[in-house]
Order: sequence, then structure tokens, then C-alpha cells
Amino acid sequence: MASPDLVIIGSGILGLAHALAAAKAGMSVEVIESTLAPQGASIRNFGMIWPIGQTPGELRDFALRSREIWLEVADQANLFNDPCGSLHLALHPIEAKLLNEFQSQNPNTTTILSPDETIERFPLVNPTELQSALFSTTELCVNPREALAQLPNFLNSEHGIRFSFGETVTNIDGNDIRTNLRNLSASKIFVCPGANFKILFPDFFTHHGVQQCQLQMLRLEPPTPEKRLQTMIAGGLTLSHYLSFRDCPSFPLVNQHHSDYYPEFMKRGIHVMASQHQSSEVTIGDSHTYGLDLPPFTEEQTDQLILGYLAKLIQSETWRVSSRWLGTYSKHPTKPLLKEQMSDATTICASPGGAGMTLSFGWAERNIADLTQ
Ligand SMILES: Cc1cc2nc3c(=O)[nH]c(=O)nc-3n(C[C@H](O)[C@H](O)[C@H](O)COP(=O)(O)OP(=O)(O)OC[C@H]3O[C@@H](n4cnc5c(N)ncnc54)[C@H](O)[C@@H]3O)c2cc1C
Repeated sequence: MASPDLVIIGSGILGLAHALAAAKAGMSVEVIESTLAPQGASIRNFGMIWPIGQTPGELRDFALRSREIWLEVADQANLFNDPCGSLHLALHPIEAKLLNEFQSQNPNTTTILSPDETIERFPLVNPTELQSALFSTTELCVNPREALAQLPNFLNSEHGIRFSFGETVTNIDGNDIRTNLRNLSASKIFVCPGANFKILFPDFFTHHGVQQCQLQMLRLEPPTPEKRLQTMIAGGLTLSHYLSFRDCPSFPLVNQHHSDYYPEFMKRGIHVMASQHQSSEVTIGDSHTYGLDLPPFTEEQTDQLILGYLAKLIQSETWRVSSRWLGTYSKHPTKPLLKEQMSDATTICASPGGAGMTLSFGWAERNIADLTQ
């Protein structure tokens, strides 16, 4: 079999995004993936395409471009997608102030809603502590489990991309690739290993201080299936999480408020978000624990804090937990995206942190354009 122009290691969203961009640019592409079916961060997330969390400039541009590509691909591959936007709920006046500031910086895509307006549009929101809400139009919801399972078939049938599942790449030397099953070569090689960065170039990741970040996630079943969020939900705690809110003058006060009132949440890196795909189930999370070789156990107190805070945001007290899981992504200490040319042939593209679903398609398009120029 002829050597492909490009071999991509990893069939998470980052690998798939690079495969699509390369095939569109006319390259022959093969993706090699260790597991038989996707198991990484890309199937464990909320499915939130979340431009609002990205700082204006290159990252927001990648996010908005990714959103366009997601819509294109979802349409062609018949995947669930809901351009339902996002709703940030302020539970304290200082959070409401920050939302106002953010809205004035982003007048074209966001609106402030009063509590009454919020409840009228989104009846599942809990009015008890609600101060105001910020609705944003740019967020898109996809179903990560469905998308990651179906995209390889679509990319194969529509773009001729070959996939080898259940095969681990163990070494790369120049243009030569060794796996547990065979040797092959390629003109170019992209390494997109997710949190599993100890197999290929482990010294590179250690040298850069890349860590794993582990998150606790849950799914809830509303008692009546017709209950729909009608958007994706975030609370005030999220304002301390995403860098995009840090330019707002009230950010230090909001952060201080969260440290004072929610110390256990801050310690566990908890902020609470919710998304809903085709089924009535609602995906919620999350917490953030950083390190290497993190323990595989969930902490019930973390789940209870997430559930308790969610009930302040939406009327979810009676909803049953239908599943729980851990997800892990890799994160560079300072860079939101990690790209390094390891040799003429090999490039590492990794560590999109908690925003890989949001950034991958846009970032990959740029990386492949750089390669083919
Ligand atoms: C719980 C959770 C919630 C999140 N929510 C969101 C969200 O809503 N929106 C958002 O934008 N982002 C979110 N993220 C972040 C996002 O999921 C990740 O940034 C993204 O999935 C990373 O994609 P990836 O392709 O780099 O990694 P992965 O999806 O982990 O894929 C890497 C793949 O590479 C394979 N691999 C590794 N080494 C080898 C090898 N040597 N040979 C062959 N195969 C190999 C692995 O088996 C794996 O399948 C979330 C993450 C988590 C964990």
C-alpha cells in the first residue's frame, strides 16, 4: 500500500480535525488510534462549542471558525447539532455587574435578561437567587459520543481518510513509524495523543510541564422527558473559570466573592455547566484536579457540590443521576494550544485543555494551511 502523505496519531477530535483539514487540502491521510472505539476526552465532554469562553483574537477566531466547520460537518454527516447559544446565570449582584460589563464588550452576540425575561424564555431556570442572565448566540451543542463514533465513517466515505483502530504507535524516527502491528512511513506525521502523552516524546511533554487535568461529570434524567433546557447553562462560578471574563473590571471582585463564599468549590476547581443532546438526559459537571497519574476514583462530595449548585441554577432537585464518569485532558501550564515541530516530518499538536471541542477544527485548518503553503 502506498505511503500516505500524512499520518495522524490519535482519533480524538484534534486528530479528526487535522485529518479533515488535510484531506480537504488534497492530502492522502491515515489516522492510527490505539483503542478500538473512541474513549478519550473527546467522548467524555459536554459537547459545548463555546466561543464565549475564548479570549478575543486568535482563540475566539478559532472557536468561531470551528463552529462553522462543526455545522458543515454535522449537516453532511447527519449529526445532532443545536445552535442553542448559552445562558450565564448570575446569583449575586457582583456577578450580574460582570455580566453587564461583558455584554457591553460583546454587544452583537450577547443580551442581558432580567429574571422575569429569563424565566419566560427558559422556564427550567430556578428564579430563587437569580439576579440576571447573559444570553449569548454563538454557542453550539453537539453530542460528543455520537460525533466521535460517526465521524470516522463519514471522513472515510466522503474524504477517503483511512482509519486503523486498535493499533498503538510506539516509535517515530524521521518519516518512519513503528506500531505494535507494523512499520509504515509518511511524508508528514501529526501527533495528537490527548492526555496519553507518555508513549511518544514523553520527555517533550515533561519538559514543557504538561499535566493531566481530571474532571468529574454526571448525567441526569429529568422526570419528564419533554423537559428541555433550550440552551446550554453556566452559573456565576464559570465567570472565574474562563479567561474571557478576566478583562472585565469586576473580575477581581467576582473572584474574591467566589473564594469567600464557595471555598470548597474553588479548592476542587468546580464550576457548573449543563448541556442536553437528543435525549432528555442532561450532562453536567465539572471539577478540575491537576497532576500526573491522578487517582481513578471519584469523590462523592464533589458530585454533591455540583448537584447542589446546579439546583440553584435550574429546577433539578428531583432529577435522577443516570451515570457518572471521569474525563482527563492534558494542559500546558501557560499555552492554550501546544504545537511543536519535532523534526522535518513530525509535528506535535496537543493540549487544547478544556476547549478541544471548541478550538480543534479552526486550529487544525490553520495548521494544515501552514503545512501546505
Ligand atoms: C470532562 C470533560 C469535559 C469537557 N468539556 C468540553 C466542552 O464541552 N467543550 C470543549 O470545547 N472542550 C471540552 N473538553 C475538552 C475536550 O474534550 C478536549 O480538549 C479534547 O477532547 C481533546 O481532544 P484530543 O483529540 O486532544 O484528545 P483525546 O480525545 O483524548 O484523543 C486522543 C487519542 O489519541 C490516542 N492515542 C494516544 N497516543 C496514541 C498512540 N501512541 N498511538 C495511537 N493512538 C494514540 C488516544 O487513544 C486517544 O483516543 C472537556 C474535556 C473533558 C475531559
